[in-house]
Amino acid sequence: MKKKDCIFCKITNKEIPKDFIYENDNFVAFLDDNPRVKGHTLIIPKKHYVNSFDLPSSLGVELLDIIKRVAEIQYKDKKIGGFNLLQNNFPVAGQVVMHFHLHFLPRREGDGFTFFK
Ligand code: 5GP
Ligand code: ZN
Repeated sequence: MKKKDCIFCKITNKEIPKDFIYENDNFVAFLDDNPRVKGHTLIIPKKHYVNSFDLPSSLGVELLDIIKRVAEIQYKDKKIGGFNLLQNNFPVAGQVVMHFHLHFLPRREGDGFTFFK
């Protein structure tokens, strides 16, 4: 897929309007259109990187900071007791959108979400 057709690039460059939970110079976080749990959030770089191989390692520290920032925001909902992080690389691993994204999945007691069946 060409970068110009990338749905997440259209979101980061604001061609497609989207409310961001969090934004800084390099990353944005917004709700997934098809939430697997309430508050399912995607954290993505503003620049088009395909996957973990492609994402510059220098952005790794900042990504961890943003995970913590998103967690702080989500933890305002007192029912949230934890969260899972999921990041798919390549179609065989379930990657559908070829622009790096980290799934942030807030977890509540009894939400019924399972990773491994
Ligand atoms: P993947 O399977 O590639 O790891 O996950 C892609 C995720 O992006 C899916 O959870 C899907 O629901 C979400 N998604 C795809 N297109 C859009 C969109 O246009 N807006 C939002 N908010 N989420 C999207
Ligand atoms: Zn992109």
